[in-house]
Amino acid sequence: MNGVHYTKNDIIHILKSDDPAETNELFIRARKMREQVCGDRIFAYGFVYFSTYCRNDCNFCFFRNSNDIERYRKSKNEALALSKALIDSGVNAIDLTTGEDPLYHNEDFKTFCEIISEIKHTYNVPVMASPGVVDHATINALRDAGADWYALYQETHNRDLFKKLRKGQSYDERMETKLYAKEQGMLIEEGILAGVGESAEDIADSLLTMGKIGARQVRIMSFVPQKGSPMENIQTPDREEELKVIALMRCLYPEALIPASLDVDGIDGLKERIQAGANLITSIIPPESGLMGVANSTMDVDNGGRTIHEAAQILNDMGLRIATKEEYIHYMNEVLRK
Ligand code: SF4
Repeated sequence: MNGVHYTKNDIIHILKSDDPAETNELFIRARKMREQVCGDRIFAYGFVYFSTYCRNDCNFCFFRNSNDIERYRKSKNEALALSKALIDSGVNAIDLTTGEDPLYHNEDFKTFCEIISEIKHTYNVPVMASPGVVDHATINALRDAGADWYALYQETHNRDLFKKLRKGQSYDERMETKLYAKEQGMLIEEGILAGVGESAEDIADSLLTMGKIGARQVRIMSFVPQKGSPMENIQTPDREEELKVIALMRCLYPEALIPASLDVDGIDGLKERIQAGANLITSIIPPESGLMGVANSTMDVDNGGRTIHEAAQILNDMGLRIATKEEYIHYMNEVLRK
């Protein structure tokens, strides 16, 4: 299905508009497009953030190397048990995420690949791998282990802003790694942050870049200040930009997976993101698991608020439902891979 041909100027105009009728029309259009592609189905990923060690120092991140925090690294069996619990609860895929953990780099991602392989081949569940920037051999190993997706977010496509956000890291290496994964047959996810000093023009550039690089999952998350980080005192933005960008992404790329992340506002933020055109719930975390989210690392986790059960009830009230794993696999192979 073809998307709306918004120009860069159209996108900037929509982002800057403060006309509620115009914004409402955008959301209605986005929902209609989602319905044409997905019907009443909303997809759902389980989130297994199994190591919070990281060699990097991103200025927006709680888990940056120089932040003096308690960290964890789950064993292979723990990661598998957590994945299994999420699969049994009804998620469609598992997002295996780590910081750029030096331990995994030193062992050529052997443990990471073993976890992927087991989830993929024992449970027959699609896997997204989110280990940060890795070399080509590791991309090949992740793919060979069975990973369907490689997620790696620039967070912005303005190189100056990138330097401020991802301190000491290479924009080009990050982008090239993602493009290599795509060339090797993996689906890729691209993502940006809202409220970190970007302009409407930057957002428009990002949205158009997402299409150019062929990202089939595209996400925006509002910045949430993290204790102990250099951006600790920057306010979280209101959610209008995030919601408009979700709707714009849906209109531009009708078939894309567009997350309504529970990581920003917990389960309370689900409905408005779905109303804006999202078709994928991410950051579902098993309660009492000791796992963390990324932006709001503990919000709603232990009280069971980030479960598929809670999400399904909210969707039900909106006339929507969680897709089955088989529906997700069919969508991934027959729509996203085509
Ligand atoms: S955003 Fe990712 S790469 Fe950057 S410090 Fe945090 S965990 Fe590490």
